[in-house]
Parts: sequence; structure tokens; C-alpha cells
Amino acid sequence: MKSSQSLLIIMKNNSRNSRTTHTPFFTSRLDRRAFLAASAGTAIGLILPKPVFAAKVVSRPLRFYNIHTRERMVVDYTPGSYGGSVRQALEYFLRDFRTGEMHTLDALLFDSLYAIQNNCEVQTSFEVISGYRSPSTNEFLWKTSSGVARNSLHMQGRALDIRVSGLPTKTLRDLALNLHQGGVGFYPSSDFVHLDTGGKRSW
Ligand SMILES: [Zn+2]
Repeated sequence: MKSSQSLLIIMKNNSRNSRTTHTPFFTSRLDRRAFLAASAGTAIGLILPKPVFAAKVVSRPLRFYNIHTRERMVVDYTPGSYGGSVRQALEYFLRDFRTGEMHTLDALLFDSLYAIQNNCEVQTSFEVISGYRSPSTNEFLWKTSSGVARNSLHMQGRALDIRVSGLPTKTLRDLALNLHQGGVGFYPSSDFVHLDTGGKRSW
């Protein structure tokens, strides 16, 4: 496929094959709160009137545009059940566009995008500046650009550089910081936000 061609894929996250499960961070937080509430109730002899359940997680479309390949993609994403055709489509879409190499991607990245979209007042289309980077590409960028880490989490499929069309990048940064997850880097001169699933930090 020529890089100038647009690609529109609508994927449904309903494959039972090769699905992996993970605990979305916001439901795990709710579960922990419910656990603590139940523990406190037990400690002081109270019986909770009803079991406390985590919020229901529903699938929602995540829209993407890759500024380098000019491809577009929509995936129907459900936090906690990243796998099957959705996983394959995202790994291809977020490949190293310079070398064509693909890598596994951390599902928590997409949980973050899902949460940002839910807290966003505009219909989001995530513009991808950088997804997976092969070691050779990262080394090249480290030597020729500023603001590139030599041991970047992009090389582990645990980082994305994004902006949202129609949304100030500063607002996107604030939405990402409000998740209290991983790393959030703000690059106003290049107009994007770096998200990763490493330790909680910001710059
Ligand atoms: Zn980055």
C-alpha cells in the first residue's frame, strides 16, 4: 500500500481468539476503593447493604489519524479486553513508519485514550505523531532531534505522541495528567503530548 493512500478500517473488538485481558486502571481503582470500603465496614462491624460493583465498561470507537502515513482507522475499543483483530490493527497502524517494523503495544495506552475521549467535549480523532519506534529509528532521532530519550519507551511499545484535532494541546495535557497514570510530556512548540505507561511523572 502506498503511504499516500488513506486507510479506513472499522474493527470490532469481538474476537474470542488471541484476546488478552488486563485490568483497566480505572476499574482497578474502583475495585480497590470498594475493597477498602468493605474492609472498613468489617472492621467496625457494619454490613454493607449491597455489594459494590465496578462501573460497567462499554466499548466505544477510538479514531486515529497517522500524520506520516496519512492513514485513518477506527477501532471499537473495550478497556480490559485488548486483543484479536483490534490488537493486530493497532500494532500495524502504530508501526515504525520508517522501517515498517511492528511491536506489541501496552493496552494501558489505549485505556488512557479511551478515558481521555470520555472526558473530552469534542469528538476526538487522535493524530499520531509517533507510536512504536525501532531501536534504529530511536537512535537516529536521538542523534538528530532534541527531546528524544535514548532509552525511550516508544521502543517497548509503551508510548505514544499524539494531539487531538480541535482540542488545544494544553487541554489534552491536562486531561492526561488528570488520569494520574504513567508519563505525560508536553511539547507545545511541536504541538503534541507524549503519553507512556512507565512511572508516574510529567515534564
Ligand atoms: Zn514520545
